Amino acid sequence: MPVSGDERPANVESLLEDIRTQFRKLRRETVRLMEVCGTHTMSIARAGLKSLLPEGLKLVSGPGCPVCVTPTVTIDAACELARRDDVVITTFGDMMRVPGSRTTLEGVKAAGADVRVVYSPLKSMEIAAATPGRTVVFLGVGFETTAPAIARLIQAAAQAGTANMAVLPANKLIPPALRVIASDPELRVDGFLLPGHVSVIIGAEPYRFLADEFRRPSVITGFEPEDVLEATAMILEQMLLGNAEVQNQYKRVVHPEGNPEARRRLDEVFRTADASWRGFGVIPGSGLVVRDAFARWDAVRRFDIRIAPEEPETGCLCGDVLKGKVNPRDCPLFGTRCTPASAVGPCMVSSEGACAASFRFEQ
Ligand code: SF4
Repeated sequence: MPVSGDERPANVESLLEDIRTQFRKLRRETVRLMEVCGTHTMSIARAGLKSLLPEGLKLVSGPGCPVCVTPTVTIDAACELARRDDVVITTFGDMMRVPGSRTTLEGVKAAGADVRVVYSPLKSMEIAAATPGRTVVFLGVGFETTAPAIARLIQAAAQAGTANMAVLPANKLIPPALRVIASDPELRVDGFLLPGHVSVIIGAEPYRFLADEFRRPSVITGFEPEDVLEATAMILEQMLLGNAEVQNQYKRVVHPEGNPEARRRLDEVFRTADASWRGFGVIPGSGLVVRDAFARWDAVRRFDIRIAPEEPETGCLCGDVLKGKVNPRDCPLFGTRCTPASAVGPCMVSSEGACAASFRFEQ
């Protein structure tokens, strides 16, 4: 719940005052800024920031919730693998309740499949050592932030010659999705609050096209409410000056060049490929597939998995929520058929999902 003005820290009050002044000076009825990252969405909802901003200044959710953008067909493939007696599925906890077209990983586990939650991809190696005769398949989701740890798992399996280990790669890359959003005039996004975690790995350069090609001001942002407000003020300042740059508000963590060592590891193990996103369809160059040199540890090739690009129709508007096209509460299923206890779509399942954030923190 938002706290009253008397209780808010002085820096928050002064940032809000800056934002109100800048917004007034812009003389625009509406400015739409996208918070790309699901962690931002949660932080904004928890602090009640939207209700503190000027009426025409809208923060809309973006595609940066990895669980939310994982397509139904990937969950279906993981569920099918999990039903095999010779397979153990490992994955992050958030993935367990994400709906596939018929069931979830939690559902197949309840029916007897061996599905285990791990906090680190490398834990899968220990499970593989303890389950000879069965292949441990790690369902690898996430963005550039988690992909290096998944690359590390594949390298570790290759170095140790672990034959009963594989990865089902479902990682996504953020900049290609932002290109789709920036180039869609219907979405009317005026600027981007860029994800701090992803930027730790990729740095600032991969976002340059937002400024150069699309003239959209963008700011790499931390996750405290003060970070989000400061970045919002920085975007409005750019708009007032008629500038379009990629700025870094999160300098205490993000270096302009990112983490070259993590990117080198990524590049050794993966190459980019087109990938299907829930609600977006196929985005060119937005996914990671295992390079031929590591084909033995690629579950797609080992089990000859065919993942169809089409998504089944469920009535869930998650895709439009992830593009900032609609608010969670615009979905007719919100709070009726779809709640955190009984979710229809992944945006209500994930701890970073916009629908879950709205359900928990907004009226
Ligand atoms: Fe999908 Fe549920 Fe959100 Fe509607 S409320 S968009 S069904 S996750």
